[in-house]
Amino acid sequence: MKLLEDRIREDGLVLPGNVLKVNQFLNHQIDPELMYALAEEFVKLYKDEKITKILTIEASGIAPAIMTGLLLRVPVLFARKQKSSTMNEGLYTAEVYSYTKKVKNTVSVDEKFLKKEDRVLIIDDFLANGQAVQGLIEICHEAHADIVGVGIAIEKSFQEGAELIRNQGVRLESLARISSFADNKVHFVEDADN
Ligand code: 5GP
Repeated sequence: MKLLEDRIREDGLVLPGNVLKVNQFLNHQIDPELMYALAEEFVKLYKDEKITKILTIEASGIAPAIMTGLLLRVPVLFARKQKSSTMNEGLYTAEVYSYTKKVKNTVSVDEKFLKKEDRVLIIDDFLANGQAVQGLIEICHEAHADIVGVGIAIEKSFQEGAELIRNQGVRLESLARISSFADNKVHFVEDADN
């Protein structure tokens, strides 16, 4: 998606450890118009899927997820991160290793908000090694809900997350796909040969 790629080129900062900082529009300050445009893309891609719920993970997935929920007129559910995994009654939970914070979190969703009748679109801001999305997939499995697919704003295609998801037969659509951070610059999959 050109709009998102241009914005990443303009405002993205490549940090050590293959981390892209996008604090200008996604991870700290949020550009609602850009989030709305991302949501329009997700809706185009998944329009025929009879989605009943958007599932994301706190915190940075919430902005693109809520715009998508607004356009589809469906509720947006975010998995909450908590320190300990005691008190799991009435919750669907999964263990998620955080790529940026290097800690393991238990993420959870209240059972009453996810049902076997649900057709779920999973949304997140970044896809790196796929641990966050994998946790959300597991939560959907626990609830016996159908996973329509995954929508990612920024995929780092040189990391293993995309393959992990596709290998499970889950549809994955990413709006910007980064092939490398060579020379501290962002290279996208489409312009990998340039
Ligand atoms: P994964 O679980 O796929 O390894 O990592 C995805 C999660 O880690 C996302 O929810 C996102 O919050 C964070 N993340 C991974 N890579 C990056 C990155 O390059 N930049 C930022 N800002 N967040 C990232």
